[in-house]
Amino acid sequence: MLRNFKVGKIHTELVTKPTLFKALKYANKKTIKTPLLLMDREKIREKASIIGKNINNSKVFYAVKANPDEKVIKLINKLNLGFEIASEGELKILSALGVSPERIISSNPVKSLSFLKMASSYGVNYFAFDSAEEVDKLARFAPGCNVYVRIAVPNEDSEWPLSKKFGVELDDAAGLLSYAGNKGLKPCGITFHVGSQCTNIYSWNTALDKTKALWDLAEKKGLRLDTLNIGGGYPINYTKNVVKVEAIEKNVNSLIYDKFPKDTKVLIEPGRAVVGDAGIFVASVIGKARRGSGNWLYLDVGVFNGLMESVGGIKYTYLAESLQQTKKIKWTITGPSCDSFDIIDRDVALPEPEVGNLVLILSSGAYTTSYASEFNGFPLPGTILI
Ligand SMILES: *Cc1c(COP(=O)(O)O)cnc(C)c1O
Repeated sequence: MLRNFKVGKIHTELVTKPTLFKALKYANKKTIKTPLLLMDREKIREKASIIGKNINNSKVFYAVKANPDEKVIKLINKLNLGFEIASEGELKILSALGVSPERIISSNPVKSLSFLKMASSYGVNYFAFDSAEEVDKLARFAPGCNVYVRIAVPNEDSEWPLSKKFGVELDDAAGLLSYAGNKGLKPCGITFHVGSQCTNIYSWNTALDKTKALWDLAEKKGLRLDTLNIGGGYPINYTKNVVKVEAIEKNVNSLIYDKFPKDTKVLIEPGRAVVGDAGIFVASVIGKARRGSGNWLYLDVGVFNGLMESVGGIKYTYLAESLQQTKKIKWTITGPSCDSFDIIDRDVALPEPEVGNLVLILSSGAYTTSYASEFNGFPLPGTILI
């Protein structure tokens, strides 16, 4: 080993040995241009094969916003997953690869007119909605398309809640499904999102109970639904081991089996769980400082060019290069910009690196590079598949 990293059990438990050792091998190259996001192909393959496996009659649509890197999308396309998109930009990535419209759905409940026109003319035929205004837009720009209504469900056990912005309550939802039918659309089902990085398996119980109540309400109104879109939310390991996708899906599958017609089509829209734990950021230490009793560590990746989710409460696990690995001290870890908002984490115990040393940031493949800006002139991180 060229570089002085000390891998602990915690690191390999969180992201697995093959992923971590591949990243370390890459980081051991003498010259490496940081910040750089390494994405483990094998881990993406493994996740793609696991997700959906335990839910009968299900199809997986990768939420492109989690990581829209062209190489990543190409790989996921080869693995035959479908895609969930929200914008012209995301559709352009897919159309350039020739992804057929049957493999694309759009579940953002509020879509721009220009995106709707483009998606509809491309042949995309499944859309979410949660307002009468959206039904009017869909009826105009994607006449006759299939629509599923987004209901509000609790997001309390997710580390990145989404429910306040979208979703309606059951009576409104039933009325909207009827309205969509009257406008010539095909009201086909119901969707929800338990919130991203949802670590409580029972959040899906509450959501499916609510969905079932609406399903029955719709039936009473004479609407025969056939599609249940359970959204995203599957969690990954950041700083601890969380509930496994298999366990969530086995539970979801038995609930669906108990509550819904046997021929119900199930759609799953994972983003984070497909790419998150495949990603490891390689950052460089660009500075250190002691201020009072505090130790500050400055990296070349921060809130504005990759680690935006740290502001919303996502905590990462770090692996720091250091000449001595026994004595750990506590650091405030920050990005490179001049903005004091650019603080990634506090009270992180790490051995002391030197300026120029590398720091690996584990489980950073989702909602990182897709959020990054060039604020303050710092470059966007590159992405490399390993
Ligand atoms: C963001 C999003 C997803 C993906 O969520 P994850 O928590 O990353 O799995 C799925 N569906 C919709 C509608 C989304 O907005």
